[in-house]
Amino acid sequence: MNHHVIIGNGPAGVIAAETLRKHAPAADTITLIGDEDAPPYSRMAIPYLLHGDITERGTWLRKDPLHWQQLGIALKRDRVQALDIAARTLALASGGTLAFDTLLIASGSSPMLPPIPGIHAQRVNTCWTLDDARAIEKFAAPGARVIQLGAGFIGCIIMESLVRRRVQLTVVEMGDRMVPRMMGETAGGMIRDWVQDKGVEVHTGARIESIESDPADMAAPLAVRLSSGERLPADLVISAAGVKPNIGFLEGSGVRCQHGVLTDERMQSNIPGIFAAGDCAEAFDAVFGKPIVSAIQPNAVDQAYAAAMNMAGQHVQLRGVTQINVLDTLGLISCSFGRWQGVPAGQGVELTDHPGHRHLSLQFDGDVMVGSNSIGTTAHIGVLRGLVEGRVKLGAWKDKLLADPTRLMEAYLACAQAQDRRSLLAT
Ligand SMILES: Cc1cc2nc3c(=O)[nH]c(=O)nc-3n(C[C@H](O)[C@H](O)[C@H](O)COP(=O)(O)OP(=O)(O)OC[C@H]3O[C@@H](n4cnc5c(N)ncnc54)[C@H](O)[C@@H]3O)c2cc1C
Repeated sequence: MNHHVIIGNGPAGVIAAETLRKHAPAADTITLIGDEDAPPYSRMAIPYLLHGDITERGTWLRKDPLHWQQLGIALKRDRVQALDIAARTLALASGGTLAFDTLLIASGSSPMLPPIPGIHAQRVNTCWTLDDARAIEKFAAPGARVIQLGAGFIGCIIMESLVRRRVQLTVVEMGDRMVPRMMGETAGGMIRDWVQDKGVEVHTGARIESIESDPADMAAPLAVRLSSGERLPADLVISAAGVKPNIGFLEGSGVRCQHGVLTDERMQSNIPGIFAAGDCAEAFDAVFGKPIVSAIQPNAVDQAYAAAMNMAGQHVQLRGVTQINVLDTLGLISCSFGRWQGVPAGQGVELTDHPGHRHLSLQFDGDVMVGSNSIGTTAHIGVLRGLVEGRVKLGAWKDKLLADPTRLMEAYLACAQAQDRRSLLAT
């Protein structure tokens, strides 16, 4: 009889616990530990909560209060402070230790706070937890002046909620375009033009240098100073400056980490029986040719499934990291796959229709498509994913796509189906 312990009760932890219950021997025990004051929930649902489309209950990953009890999974609210790999125990914030036979680290990631004077002031929030959402709901009233720091993936998702709350929104992004780590110059510029047309003020290539706070001044409780010298009054500042994996508690434990917990294809760390999945894990990706952290939910659940199957004694390999980003920014759909920036000595093609808000960029390494950006179309998302993740050899179709990138579906039908396209999961 084994005790499987999972640190983190987000999507990765939940999928892993349920997979273990299904595939591990019935006598095994499973403990799911989370440190937030809420039932396991989805951060992805927070924008819908801020829209008012759902209540907090709508963010819960499992609604039935008896779900965990019925599965015989112990939910524990605590914070893991340290890991002792020799004793195979965890030190808990509440005191005491918890022993395990197999361990899954699914501790997710946390927002990074830029070192700006005033970043810890009242009314300056991240948008990451239910607590954050409650604070934003309080201050993001219609007409409120909201300044959002960062226009990355999460920043663009939050923007939609803020616009729907009818606030006066200003976005400050230090990159030269929107979503600079996901989109090239043309695509990022098109997203900026789109949101500006919808009434959002955007400052790209600008930094917030300081945030002054005077909670007693109801006319301007905050004032934000930009690198341009401008001073903007605000009621709320939302910091969306990227995330970092929650791996601090592993320091000195012997579990090998780089940006996240380094894993093999089975999601096992360098320590046998200790696995990692989700936003905190760094796994090898064949498209990039190196380990990467891919902090998106589909990746978290794929990795959690693979890790849990291996914890249950089965052999499941993950043959890549899911790294698709599909964004809906105030109604404009954009996608980014793989190595969208292209590769040295690679070839690329771009097709842009500015008035029609459409754009397609394809990047090749030899005859393999390694990445793509697209704006304004969802028609080819499945095909793009299949070609990039499947590393499909396009042969003569590479030149046909360079001449006319819209022939994607034809290229897929001609090449992908004829080759052994392995799924991400393999047993
Ligand atoms: C507003 C918002 C919108 C998003 N939208 C999308 C989207 O549209 N598409 C998409 O793919 N992704 C989206 N994401 C990202 C997605 O939510 C994450 O990729 C996903 O939550 C990762 O799941 P996880 O289980 O790895 O980590 P998490 O969901 O972060 O769960 C980890 C849990 O572990 C807990 N924990 C951490 N350390 C410890 C410890 N030492 N002891 C105990 N517990 C601990 C954390 O508090 C947390 O509760 C969004 C995120 C946000 C904030």
